[in-house]
Amino acid sequence: MVRVCHALSAKGLIAGQDGNVSVRIASDRLLVTPAGFAKGWLDPDDLVEVSLDGARVAGRHAPSSELGLHLSAYRARPDVGAVVHAHPVTATAFALVGESIPDGVLAELMLTVGPVALARYAHPGTDELGRLVSPHFVAHDAVLLANHGAVTLGRTLDEALFAMESLEHGARMIHLARQLGGVVTLETAACEALRAARRRARDDAAAGAALQETTE
Ligand SMILES: [Zn+2]
Repeated sequence: MVRVCHALSAKGLIAGQDGNVSVRIASDRLLVTPAGFAKGWLDPDDLVEVSLDGARVAGRHAPSSELGLHLSAYRARPDVGAVVHAHPVTATAFALVGESIPDGVLAELMLTVGPVALARYAHPGTDELGRLVSPHFVAHDAVLLANHGAVTLGRTLDEALFAMESLEHGARMIHLARQLGGVVTLETAACEALRAARRRARDDAAAGAALQETTE
């Protein structure tokens, strides 16, 4: 988690005390970043263990003010093992103009992140934010938060980090392509093939994880 926090800072996906990260460490337990710390300077001792109802179990600091957002993801999706919230510059610019990242244009984004939702604005750190974003988690691993930032989900922490990186990378490409004269949308058949490939990859990974569990 500390490595991922440092990466978010080094890659410019957060600034100052922005952003928060969590990992499911048991069916009813999470590790989450502390409130109000610069994530680029975080130490392992700073992390906070909480239960799925949000109560602190271990750690010397208060959990992230966005804990409710993270909890809403774990409650909505039992397959989710990690959540990353950041303020990626270009992707958040889309959220600032009230637009999501267009689907059906960038092959790699469709394969690695899938469709990106845009959730309505709510004040950061409130239950209202989790309530508005939660329905989008059912069918999306990446959600833009209107006038705020982005959230990505993963089965693992690396997956959630890579989704955040890919989201920003894709947003930059689409923004540049628009400046060059416009984005060409993929044909329906090409989109279907990409969606099917993503579904297969996820099913294979889920089957692999289940097999590992039964053989352990
Ligand atoms: Zn934020």
